[in-house]
Amino acid sequence: MIYFDHASTTSPHPEVVRVYTKLLNASFANADSLHAPGRKVKQQMERSREKIAQMLHVKNDEIFFTSCASESNSLAIVGFALANQNRGKHILTSNVEHSSTKHAFDFLESVGFEIERLPIHEDGTIWPEDIQTHLKENTILVSIMHVNNEIGSINDIERFASIVHEHPFCQIHSDCVQSFGKIDVPFEKLDMATISAHKIHGLKGSALLVKKENVRLKPIVFGGQQEQGLRGGTENAPANIALAKTIRLALEEQEEAYYTAKEINSFLRKEVEFLGGHILSPANALPYILNISFDAITSEVLQNALDQKGICVSGKSTCDSKSKAESEVVLALGKSHKEAKHAIRLSFGKDNTMQEAKEFIQAIEEILKNYGLSI
Ligand code: PLP
Repeated sequence: MIYFDHASTTSPHPEVVRVYTKLLNASFANADSLHAPGRKVKQQMERSREKIAQMLHVKNDEIFFTSCASESNSLAIVGFALANQNRGKHILTSNVEHSSTKHAFDFLESVGFEIERLPIHEDGTIWPEDIQTHLKENTILVSIMHVNNEIGSINDIERFASIVHEHPFCQIHSDCVQSFGKIDVPFEKLDMATISAHKIHGLKGSALLVKKENVRLKPIVFGGQQEQGLRGGTENAPANIALAKTIRLALEEQEEAYYTAKEINSFLRKEVEFLGGHILSPANALPYILNISFDAITSEVLQNALDQKGICVSGKSTCDSKSKAESEVVLALGKSHKEAKHAIRLSFGKDNTMQEAKEFIQAIEEILKNYGLSI
């Protein structure tokens, strides 16, 4: 199998699996129980929080464990809007956010918030001056993703943060799911940031929200005192403890993995164009994500043909994979409807090799020939 679908999910690191499996038995107690096993689990979880905070250069009580990035995004957006609506109801975002962010904003709009979705430019990003010109007196939040999950474009969120912080009370959230562990994320500059374990060779059901001390949120999952009262429910302590290891390993392997992805990406860009395909990802996108299309084959047909050859890729965001609609992100880039309907996303991980990239190209050549297309 050739797995080029790491933006959907990654295989858990063997070291993470080892630690987690051990914890499932040894640390099953409820972290809020007052007895000795409960206190021990609490201590392990708080130690994990402390290590994560150090690696992300934030404070311990600015790390909030959640079950997935979709939950983190929902808490950051809906929880923030509910807690800060007395200051204003205008929020800025982009028109290519992940469905978890997009739907959180659709919900806020339905209850009276003014959501402005800035359009991306041809390079797939929002420009800092767009933020500058659209900030209003009553803007309370800017929430824009760091790296786009379909095309890999990289937003300059550090510049966004400095512009947002010139505003008297506006704050900034960024969905850093596709950037964290791949490029540096400026957590120090952001008021809130989302990351997910399963995108960096960690566990599913494990994610976090970085929320700075000066950010007010209301909970959206009601319950007890867990996570400073912002997220009810018995904490998934084994996963939360294993997250520190996941993050450490991802950061240790970041540089080497980046160069592997870059090498594969550059090779595939040339070869795909040579075969008459289109490169839809912008030139300076994150090398881990490469969106391409071929005129003669729709996304669905190409995905199936590749699947039959044991090659895993995606059409668009996996969370939207059941929808037959063309990719909204590719359309937002200014590409044609055909390109949006034919787009496939390749996403690479630390264990991919150049040999796999060569085999992928060979597979594409065969598929094009099978469809009677001359190369
Ligand atoms: N944000 C982005 C940019 C993503 O790519 C994804 C997953 O595809 C998510 C959020 C949601 O992550 P999770 O599966 O942890 O909810």
